[in-house]
Formats: sequence, C-alpha cells, structure tokens
Amino acid sequence: MWSPTPGLSGGLPWLRGSTSPSAEDAPAGASGINVPSGPPTSMLPGETDKPSSSAAPVEPLTTSLSDPPAGCPSYPPTEVQRWLICPVFNDYSAKWEPRVEAWTPHRLLGMAIHAGVAVHLRNLMDGSVSPATGPIASAIASLREGYVQQETWGLTGLEALVTKGTKRLTDSIDEKLLPGATILGVETSIEAGGRHRILDCTLQRGDTLEVWDWKASLRLDDRYLPDRLLEAHHSWQLLDYAWHGQAHFQRVVHRVGQGLLILGPKLKVEYSPVTVTKERLDQWRLDAETIWAMMGDGFMWHNWKACSDKHLHYGQRCPFYEGCHDLYGDESQFPGLYRPMKEKGA
Ligand code: SF4
Repeated sequence: MWSPTPGLSGGLPWLRGSTSPSAEDAPAGASGINVPSGPPTSMLPGETDKPSSSAAPVEPLTTSLSDPPAGCPSYPPTEVQRWLICPVFNDYSAKWEPRVEAWTPHRLLGMAIHAGVAVHLRNLMDGSVSPATGPIASAIASLREGYVQQETWGLTGLEALVTKGTKRLTDSIDEKLLPGATILGVETSIEAGGRHRILDCTLQRGDTLEVWDWKASLRLDDRYLPDRLLEAHHSWQLLDYAWHGQAHFQRVVHRVGQGLLILGPKLKVEYSPVTVTKERLDQWRLDAETIWAMMGDGFMWHNWKACSDKHLHYGQRCPFYEGCHDLYGDESQFPGLYRPMKEKGA
C-alpha cells in the first residue's frame, strides 16, 4: 500500500447544472488563500491593450515538480469530487447510469459553450482554427450532437441560449481577462499518474500564470451569487489545476479562477479570481496524496449523509438511491434500474 509523503516542505511542491448552491458549501473564510476584493479587472496587473500570441519568458519554478509517487494515480477533480461525496457513488458512476432519467440540458449547454469559447481563444492564440468554424457555429454543432429529443427542452430555444451565452462569455473574456495577458493554452490536456485533466484556459500575465475554468449556470438568482463565487476559494478542482498547470508549463501559477456564465434570470458573467500561494498548494498536495492513495487502494464506504442531499446531486437525490436502499447494493439486480456505462449511447 502506497503511503502519502509525510510533510511537503522539503519535497513535493502542486454547466455544472446547479441552480441553487448551498450556503453550507461556502465557509466564512478560506485559510491560506488571499481572497481579493473588488472586481477582477482591478486586480489583474499589467493591463495593456490586447492579448498577445507571443509569450515572453517568465520566471521558472524553483521548486521541483513531479508526477505523483509510483502507485498513486493522480485522479482528476471530477472523480475526486464524486469520491468525496461518497466512494460508492463514485464507484457506481463509473459503471452504471440510470435507465430512466429526465434529460436536462444543463451539462450539454455547458459543453457547447465551452466548445465555442475554445474556438474563440484558439483563434486568438494562434489562428489555428478555420475562419469558417466560428465560436457560435462550433457551440451550436456541439449542442446538436448531444441533444436528446424530448418534449420539455426544444432545440431552437437551446440554440438561442447557447448563442447568446457563447457571445456574452467570449465578449467578457476579451474585455475583462485578456488585456495585458498572453494565451498560453486552451483546453490543455495534462496527463499525470495515468490520468488526465483539461485546463480550459492558461494565461501568462507578467511573469506568472493564471488558470481559468469556465462554468455555466442555467439560472442563478442574485441572492445565491456570493456563495457561488466563494466556492472558487476552496475549490479542489482549481487547486488541482494550479498544481498540474505548474508542472506542465514549468511556471508559477499565481492565480486561478472561474469565469461563471449565468444565463438567467439575467445574462451576465462573474469572475472569482483566487491568488494561489505555495503554502496553499502544499496544503492541498498533502490532502491530494492522502485521498488519491485511498482511492487507489479501493477504500469504499457508504456516505449515507449524501443520499438525499440535493445540493450534491444537481437538485435531486443520489441517482443510485434505489440501488443502495432498495437493492442493498446487489449489483446483480442493477440492470433493471441501471444500464452499464458501456451501453451509453447504444
Ligand atoms: S445512495 Fe447514498 S450511499 Fe448510495 S451511492 Fe448514493 S450517496 Fe452513496
């Protein structure tokens, strides 16, 4: 059994569909993180006119970076998040999906808008995308590819949402984030320990890097916004991206953040930049090694507290509720309620 490294000081350096984030998710403070106040643009140094495609040399890391220790997979944030909710939930999610589920467009909308923003940024970065493949066209194509015919969500209405959302987010990124920055990476796939994660956008600003992640919310009332933005300050995903971004680009990641596109009731984009410190990354890294090790060793238990917590399951109870509570986890009986993941799309 692999054991986490004791102490890090001398060794290792580092659309969701939610509509109503939980206040319980937002602690009063975030130890070790410099929580900035004021709008993000007021904190972004070195603002000039437009993003540049030629990156100047930046300060290299002085700390050593490495893959996880042998035998310790570097699990991507999505898996870790599911495992932290409930290890059984993570295990079932990799193997089964509900046969009867009300299709909702939340996830697909986010993916489509991501696709459009990526085309926009790649064009700015290196002009590598064909002029005919514009951001809106790419977003619509992605939407149509994943759309499931049903009566609740019409394709025409969703296309209108994707169009205005993609335009609003790309315009905002151009105006708020890119001045004074150089785009270093768009949807950068980083492999570590046999697993990979994708960084939506990596910017160089001054002599340090920033990693940005795009989120989309179909609806978010203003009263929930502060808690939602505060989530970035204790986001496992963002710290994971910071650590792996440093390892990949061999540069200090000074800031991470989420660009949150809110589609309703009012269309807008909000940013939650977080200044990353070495101490915070070391703290995260120690937790990560502990958790990755337990995941790798197959630690399994039922977190009964999560079964009906709707904040954890996109407004519904756990999709495996019946599997655990009616079938008592007997997977030989699961095919009546769930289908194996390999049948997905069949
Ligand atoms: S129903 Fe409860 S115990 Fe079962 S997978 Fe879901 S959260 Fe875990």
